[in-house]
Amino acid sequence: MSTRPRSQRRKYGLTSKRVEQLSPSGIRRFFDLLASMEEVISLGVGEPDFVTPWHIREAAIYSLEKGYTMYTSNLGMPELRQELSRYLRDNYELGYNPDSELLITVGVSEGLDLAMRAIVNTGDEVIMPDPCYVSYSPCVILAGGTPIMVPTSEENNFEISAADIEARVTSKTKAILIGNPANPTGAVIPKDKLLPIADIARRHKLLVICDEIYAKLIYGVEHTCLATLPEMKESTILLSGFSKAYAMTGWRIGYAAASAEVIASMTKIHQYTMMCAPIMVQVAAIEALKSGDASVAEMVEEYNQRRLIIVQGLNNIGLSCFEPRGAFYAFPSIKSTGMTSEEFAENLLIEEKVAVVPGTAFGQCGEGYVRCCYATSLADIEEALSRMKRFVDRHKK
Ligand code: PLP
Repeated sequence: MSTRPRSQRRKYGLTSKRVEQLSPSGIRRFFDLLASMEEVISLGVGEPDFVTPWHIREAAIYSLEKGYTMYTSNLGMPELRQELSRYLRDNYELGYNPDSELLITVGVSEGLDLAMRAIVNTGDEVIMPDPCYVSYSPCVILAGGTPIMVPTSEENNFEISAADIEARVTSKTKAILIGNPANPTGAVIPKDKLLPIADIARRHKLLVICDEIYAKLIYGVEHTCLATLPEMKESTILLSGFSKAYAMTGWRIGYAAASAEVIASMTKIHQYTMMCAPIMVQVAAIEALKSGDASVAEMVEEYNQRRLIIVQGLNNIGLSCFEPRGAFYAFPSIKSTGMTSEEFAENLLIEEKVAVVPGTAFGQCGEGYVRCCYATSLADIEEALSRMKRFVDRHKK
């Protein structure tokens, strides 16, 4: 028997090398700082300020009264999958078999993780835009893959270009991952720019994971669901959910729609890890799909008013702002202040008690920008703008 102390006998560190590769979320650090302060106006967290519409909450409450407290099928309740299948047919003319091509997940967050673990082999590459949603790259790394970042810029409306993707395709490329509309920029990739991306996927036999969680939050433009493009349904993993459109972030529910082969693989992981989304939340999601359209339209109307005010306000104070056409984020340039994104966000929080997220939390190409979430009251947006004006005037170069 070895006489060496246990710690010296261990061949590897305590934690996994894959996890060690991940840097802590840049967003979290700001929220921790924010939590220690009072009277802060937060344009930080990316979630609706609305409460979930009453009829959706009521459906969940009623399900509890009726005793819905069990596990459901791993795929999700049959009624929910049928309703989702109907919804995808009515909205996109896409026919997904509710018994084999749809999986109810615990938010798009789980959908992303499952999708990556289901398709990525060690060393596979997944191409994605920079900046992008904070979870994309970590999910690829945790699955054993390598994220390949494609820079995007304000000059190109923060749209990932087909040519830039193609230049990065190698024998190891497995998939392209995009968010449309995008977090943090609010960019919506139009159909004519998606078509050549789909063409690359077809020619190189790549999968496309499309995170369309903001698909319903669109202002004056059309949103094209990637799976509707010619021959793309089979090779697209469509991820979406209820958090943003129905103001249901805390409920934790989303879905994946894909080929039966991919859904079977994702379900294998889901059944051993999550088992199923909570039953009362699934009942609420059925209600949202059946009767939630009017509530979504009302919230979109509100977001649009706020969007116009914040974009104009930011431009007026000298923070030039690309016009976001989706989601609920403005992504102004702060380059005129001479500060880095982190300096800007930190100083603004400390000096004026306004929380925004540094663009670098979403990738290197976010340097020079900050993300301002406008899913907050008009009064708060206006007060935040006047505090930001004071801050920018004081730090003018
Ligand atoms: N995808 C994007 C682009 C997001 O912005 C978010 C949340 O901010 C998520 C996924 C996570 O969504 P969910 O609440 O469904 O897990």
